[in-house]
Amino acid sequence: MKEKEIAGWGRYPKIKAKIYEIGEREEIPALLKHISQGIPWGLGRSYGDSALAQEIILTKGLKHFLAFDPQTGLLRAEAGVSLREIIQVFLPQGWFPPVVPGTQFVTLGGAVAADIHGKNHHHHGCFSEFVEEILLFIPENGILRVSRQENPELFYATCGGMGLTGLILEVSLRLTRVPSAFIRQTSIFLAGLEEILTAFEEHQQALYTVAWVDCSSTNPLGRGILLIGEHAQEAPLKIRLQKPRAVPFVPPVSLVNSWSIRIFNWLYTKQASRKPRLDLVPLEKFFFPLDKWAHWHRLYGPRGFLQYQFVVPKDQGLYALREIAQQIKKSGLSSSLAVLKLFGPENKNFLSFPMEGYTLALDFPYTEGLFRLLDRLDQIILECGGRFYLAKDARLKASVFEKGYPYLERFRKLRKSLGLDKKIQSLQSRRLAL
Ligand SMILES: Cc1cc2nc3c(=O)[nH]c(=O)nc-3n(C[C@H](O)[C@H](O)[C@H](O)COP(=O)(O)OP(=O)(O)OC[C@H]3O[C@@H](n4cnc5c(N)ncnc54)[C@H](O)[C@@H]3O)c2cc1C
Repeated sequence: MKEKEIAGWGRYPKIKAKIYEIGEREEIPALLKHISQGIPWGLGRSYGDSALAQEIILTKGLKHFLAFDPQTGLLRAEAGVSLREIIQVFLPQGWFPPVVPGTQFVTLGGAVAADIHGKNHHHHGCFSEFVEEILLFIPENGILRVSRQENPELFYATCGGMGLTGLILEVSLRLTRVPSAFIRQTSIFLAGLEEILTAFEEHQQALYTVAWVDCSSTNPLGRGILLIGEHAQEAPLKIRLQKPRAVPFVPPVSLVNSWSIRIFNWLYTKQASRKPRLDLVPLEKFFFPLDKWAHWHRLYGPRGFLQYQFVVPKDQGLYALREIAQQIKKSGLSSSLAVLKLFGPENKNFLSFPMEGYTLALDFPYTEGLFRLLDRLDQIILECGGRFYLAKDARLKASVFEKGYPYLERFRKLRKSLGLDKKIQSLQSRRLAL
């Protein structure tokens, strides 16, 4: 055990915590006996306080591939294995994770716990749709097999349950066949929110869609680029995954501010043309553009940043996004990154985030007045029947969060009945009374 200062990807909040590392599996029962209030930690890519607690259990020791069936693509691996490691081993054989987030540096445990979504949610749903079975360690109960058939309540609570149902030891995941390591990408420049949302509807049949939207304070959400992707058929399967270059240190002040955001957005949208542009791009570049830089979050300086991600039902999309844009403009604050996606129907998990509609993720440098703005945005989202993503949150109020999640009470009851509510806790679970 060592004690150190630690934070999620947004570098807000920072806390001092006791860090325990899992070595051998046999050590887990004794380790968890030791802990009074702890939470598992994968690769720390959740932005806020989902993986923060007085005591943190690092899962990177759970790093073994256990079995793979080349006929069906079913992979069994320990929970500390990352999506990057899966891609490194299985992409050359024509297999790829069925759902990937905007970074490959997440563990299987973290992907299940947040029930992550990708650019194909409108076709394939969340990560858990491809999970056949989980091996879960619960301090009071030992190791349990959890699937849609065995302990189904626990399966629906664990997928999206942010580590609060126990320690995920193993995951059985169905990989998807891909014809190559490349994506045929079409980029379309769009002016105006209405045009952006119409383009999503028009390209719904495409497997992957995502829009990068300008959210600088001058004209928030006023223009963007829609990226449409399909797996390329006639291209190589083998590529060398790039080694990220590091942002070497934390600058004394944030390099991300309203001026740098304006310049970045101007440069980004300037290169786009109204004529759709076709490119053949490596999977890595299409799915994980930010992974080019390790520790890019350091650019936000010592105070860090907050990512704010919500979803609103489709028929409320235009109204909600217009209201959000107006509030951002009024506040004078800018979001450095704004990523818009279309979600398909929700699943049965108690706390999974996606529901049919539009989701927007915004990155705000931590500044005075930010929480006031976000409180106002919360009210717009609630009015529109939307909800918020736990993996990105560091500040929501319990009364706001719970309005979006009708199965929250079942989740709480299950945790209590398994004796998890005292021992397994994060800062977030305490703040939101999960
Ligand atoms: C650049 C970037 C882009 C992203 N894009 C997306 C996106 O497009 N879609 C999306 O859905 N998410 C996205 N995310 C968020 C990320 O996918 C999730 O936060 C994911 O959970 C991080 O996994 P991790 O292994 O780093 O877990 P951590 O951040 O370490 O932990 C996240 C949660 O998982 C729990 N957990 C981790 N391991 C275990 C385990 N073994 N057992 C039980 N619980 C465990 C933790 O307790 C915590 O609650 C993005 C993050 C970044 C930094």
